Amino acid sequence: MGIHGENIQQQVHHFETLCREQGLPLTIQRRVVLEIVLGDDHHPTADQIYKEAQARISGISRTTVYRVLDMLVSKGIIAKVSHPRAIARFDGNTDHHHHLVCLQCDKVLDLEGKWLDILKLPDTRHLNFEITDYLVQLRGICADCRKKPTKSHTGSVTHEKKLALDAKKRKRKTKSPKQRRKVQ
Ligand SMILES: [Zn+2]
Ligand SMILES: [Zn+2]
Repeated sequence: MGIHGENIQQQVHHFETLCREQGLPLTIQRRVVLEIVLGDDHHPTADQIYKEAQARISGISRTTVYRVLDMLVSKGIIAKVSHPRAIARFDGNTDHHHHLVCLQCDKVLDLEGKWLDILKLPDTRHLNFEITDYLVQLRGICADCRKKPTKSHTGSVTHEKKLALDAKKRKRKTKSPKQRRKVQ
């Protein structure tokens, strides 16, 4: 689950200490962006964080917000979550956990599951790739979207079509390594 109250303050304090140790000024921009990510359970996108930051600090630029987010990710204070539709989302919860992703509204919910934590990882030595961590994304339709008729927010693509599109995408993904090998 997300981070609340005392935990946010603890995390901000931890960040303050880190900044001091590394001689980085804890600017108001950095503090506000961090507080926004920690206080949002919904894995906000950079744009959503930017809008919220604008409401708190007038005149803050998009570039500043993006730069602060990158910095927080590189310091391990927050996590960057890759999303099926390639929009990066930011997660104040850096504990090992998994995600439920809604295919209709892109909502991302946290999920803890011991049975997912004991997943046997594949041997990737032949790819010269060292796995350091993993996150399971389970896709489906959230409670809010299941209440709605089977139209998406744009109204143009139905739920069934989206699922079909998604299945196609998955097929394409599994094909691509072969195709790449052919090219070589
Ligand atoms: Zn949804
Ligand atoms: Zn999460």
